[in-house]
Amino acid sequence: MQLNEYMSGSIRNIMAKAYRNVLTNPREAKFAYKMQRLFEKSEKRRRQIRETDGIDVPPFLISSIATTCNLHCKGCYARSIGIANDSASDSKPTLSPEQWRTIFDEAASLGVNFSLLAGGEPMMRRDILEQAAEVKEMIFPIFTNGTLIGPNNISLLREHLNLVPVISIEGTASNTDDRRGQGVFKRALMSMEMLKSEQLFFGTSITVTTENLQHVTSRQFVEQLQSYGCKIVFYVEYVPIEPGTEHLAFGDEHVKQMETIMEELRTQYDDIIFLSFPGDEKELGGCLASGRGFFHIGPDGSAEPCPFSPFSDSNVAQIGVRGALQSPLFRKIRAAHALGWEHTGGCTLYEHREEIEQMAI
Ligand code: SF4
Repeated sequence: MQLNEYMSGSIRNIMAKAYRNVLTNPREAKFAYKMQRLFEKSEKRRRQIRETDGIDVPPFLISSIATTCNLHCKGCYARSIGIANDSASDSKPTLSPEQWRTIFDEAASLGVNFSLLAGGEPMMRRDILEQAAEVKEMIFPIFTNGTLIGPNNISLLREHLNLVPVISIEGTASNTDDRRGQGVFKRALMSMEMLKSEQLFFGTSITVTTENLQHVTSRQFVEQLQSYGCKIVFYVEYVPIEPGTEHLAFGDEHVKQMETIMEELRTQYDDIIFLSFPGDEKELGGCLASGRGFFHIGPDGSAEPCPFSPFSDSNVAQIGVRGALQSPLFRKIRAAHALGWEHTGGCTLYEHREEIEQMAI
């Protein structure tokens, strides 16, 4: 099966499951039904562009909209590569809310379904969230540390159901506080309770390692998330950015194990959507970066293959999403079949970062 058909099929399944899970909530059900119809149109749009212009439009984007964060998590990737800082003045110039709106409007017109919003802490950029919310054809999962969701912004999430909070935790309360700071787990839980009491659709993202794999996929833990009201669980495989932590990253056997576990969880829990990133790249014929399944837009608009491959030779604010999909770097990566390069475990492009950096020059 062609990758684009496979991904469109997966999105149809995700949306069907989301719709089934909110049937008891008329407002969310109406929204999910509307999005299913819109996604059918965008799927046709992507196919049409592929057939007429030979351009593969990915259904996903990852947009790092925030360059500040209120936390100092151990091993923070965004801080390690200078995306996140304590104050905006410490960061590179960033796109304006209007520039992000232009990008999201174009993405929607090309048939992109989702843009994951990341950073830094995206809840610190309400001005950009408000712009994204107005792009009704797309859904924006907000990857947040969950400590800033409160009375001042719950109305924004209540009003715009296409903004979907995905709260990051590290598994248990102690693991979370150990990495993210004392009291962070309790505060994140408060946000989950608030979202649940508002009957809003939300989820969680968990960095999965060789050490916590069993626990964070266990029945006991998943049912805890279920009781918190989580409707979607993103497992993000650990990328060993800190020297000496390579043992925490998945090897091929863990990737296989994870795929099996994911199938079991999807069968066992009909009321939760389970996703793993990057998932079994080998099964998918290689990595999904560089526009194959998604690409990353940096806070300054730089078009990058993936957050874990922060190299770029073009800017989306200047050449647009369609232009970025045909950037020299993305073309070189595709031509070199770099997305299928040999690698152990999780992330191809991170493992071959020197070669990709050379291609961007
Ligand atoms: S919340 Fe995210 S961006 Fe902020 S310090 Fe933690 S890992 Fe980094």
